[in-house]
Amino acid sequence: MVDIVYRTRSLGVAAVGLPDQYADGRAAKVWQLYIGDTRSRTDEYRSAVVQLLRQHQCQRVLDVACGTGVDSIMLVEEGFTMVSADASDKMLKYALKERWNRRKEEAFDKWVIEEANWLTLPNDIQKPGDGFDAVICLGNSFAHLPDFKGDQSDQKLALRNIASMVKPGGILIIDHRNYDAILDTGEAPKGKNIYYKSDLTKDISTSVLYVNNRPHMVTLDYTIQVPNMDNNEQSDVSTFRLSYYPHRVDAFTELLKNAFQGKCQHSLYSDFKPHTPGQDYVPCYFIHVVKKTG
Ligand code: SAH
Repeated sequence: MVDIVYRTRSLGVAAVGLPDQYADGRAAKVWQLYIGDTRSRTDEYRSAVVQLLRQHQCQRVLDVACGTGVDSIMLVEEGFTMVSADASDKMLKYALKERWNRRKEEAFDKWVIEEANWLTLPNDIQKPGDGFDAVICLGNSFAHLPDFKGDQSDQKLALRNIASMVKPGGILIIDHRNYDAILDTGEAPKGKNIYYKSDLTKDISTSVLYVNNRPHMVTLDYTIQVPNMDNNEQSDVSTFRLSYYPHRVDAFTELLKNAFQGKCQHSLYSDFKPHTPGQDYVPCYFIHVVKKTG
């Protein structure tokens, strides 16, 4: 279903703070269900991320959008030295709980988890020496940052801060949904979701909000079947809504290059397969890998 709203004047900004879309704890809980068993990240995803990190000789990794910890847990298990950060304490709660439960495993005992916002990252996270070998920002996380001011200044600041955490020669791996397809067709591509194996998703409906005739926000309403926690037969249907800034792939590539002041090599992947311009395959996600060269 496509619901298009036209606005002719820009949104009032000053009064609106940066929202934590997970603040009421409900989305965090349902999110855990949506992504399914955290161990069931698809194999292609796990091996693609691990391979990229190993190929670039990365050991020390900063996850700037760890959420409930799904990527970080996977990478701690794979032997990487992880610092994991997120702005939402409600999401971090799940990561902290996992670290506590597995504290007898040395790798988990050493896992560092911090509350941090991309807009204040250098103050929130201590950078080791000249930076991390790799910074990751996955699961369509960056698109959570809105553009209330209408000039993308928050997004530029956030990307500069994220880029500043990467050491020279290190890499940033950052992704977003295929918003080109969402904006062009009004729907999220129906392909296989490389990230999540949840069997519970029933529907995702898409709305696009236009401001000054430009796509400003995409809202996805997820409908999922929530198993009853009391273990009886009944289950509930639950919906939760998340809003995203719809980054088009070319525009986002430019933002990234600017964040590294041009001193970088950029590669693009479609669902973790190398992307070729003009390809027929319509990916669900674009993954950008940016290597800092200076
Ligand atoms: N990578 C995880 C989490 C995805 S959800 C996964 O794939 O499951 C996106 C996360 O981005 C949320 O946990 C949200 O709190 C975080 N986030 C959104 N805006 C942020 C900001 N400005 N600074 C830091 N984290 C932010």
